[in-house]
Amino acid sequence: MFVVMVADATEADIIGVKSHILAEGMTPYEHRGAERLVVAVVGEIGSRRNHLLERLGGLPGVERVTPISKPYKLTSREFRPEDTVIRVLDAVIGDGSLTIMAGPCSVESREQLLETAEGVKAAGATILRGGAFKPRTSPYSFQGLGVEALRYLAEARELTGLPVITEVMESNQLDIVAEYADIVQIGTRNMQNFSLLNACGRTQRPVMLKRGYGATIEEWLMAAEYILASGNPNVILCERGIRTFETATRNTMDVSAMPVLDTLTHLPVVADPSHATGKRSLVPPLAMASVAAGADGIMVEVHPRPEEALSDGPQQLTLQMFRDMMAKLTPLHRLVASDRRAAAPA
Ligand code: PEP
Ligand code: MN
Repeated sequence: MFVVMVADATEADIIGVKSHILAEGMTPYEHRGAERLVVAVVGEIGSRRNHLLERLGGLPGVERVTPISKPYKLTSREFRPEDTVIRVLDAVIGDGSLTIMAGPCSVESREQLLETAEGVKAAGATILRGGAFKPRTSPYSFQGLGVEALRYLAEARELTGLPVITEVMESNQLDIVAEYADIVQIGTRNMQNFSLLNACGRTQRPVMLKRGYGATIEEWLMAAEYILASGNPNVILCERGIRTFETATRNTMDVSAMPVLDTLTHLPVVADPSHATGKRSLVPPLAMASVAAGADGIMVEVHPRPEEALSDGPQQLTLQMFRDMMAKLTPLHRLVASDRRAAAPA
């Protein structure tokens, strides 16, 4: 439930409400909106719902207490109507600009990463991606360079100024990944790894949570809720395709996730057409579709020589393809952004 405070609530009123919530064994989370302060009551409310509604509703400074129908709370637009905007170095995610995360599937060598980083930066990428710890279907496939790759990512950041994002696969890797990376990524296979979600909630780094390939949008938002509830409000959602009966593509990109999430959550949403399609020829059209559907950004895999790639070769764009895609995406985004501004309430 949410406790909506009156516009002129005092700090003492707010502290009073929070202390009551704590005394009931729940956790208060506040959001200071443009007009009102809202305190979310998070915890196992169960049969105490009516008691709490009455108790909190009678406290000084409280305008009303509203039960929330949705199982996710902190991620919901009801709690925070304004978009979450995340800043990392010079990159801003969720402010209406188009975030472009690009780089190889895996960091394979220092030279491969630096060449890709300079190429994607020159073409307009705002964040560099690259896998260090790789989740691979086969134990006999390339598993990533690990910490060596993290060092190359840090060097690429020094060289280009681009913030870097890389995946963390388990909680005991989080400290080292967060030491080098600017954004930590949780992959599709770990979307419901609740101990990893909680650990990421305690890190200072923004987290990009990829959609589980078999997860509904509600399950995905519940997973994000774990990260927010453990203390980290800076979460980016990434639609990367879901498994369906279709075999023409690696996964099926759920383009409707973009406008659906825009109504349900304040968190920014990035689309990954590389893992969604598995085929490089399909990446530019799906990137365009995602931007048209309102994505805050795109994550794409780019390799200077995809035919030599140690992972996901068929879906990685060449640098030339990336440049060509960017030349189309930029004007499309301008059009979409001006349309959104025109539709926004004054
Ligand atoms: C990745 O982005 O490197 C990756 C492995 O993606 P996913 O978790 O979506 O398969
Ligand atoms: Mn990949």
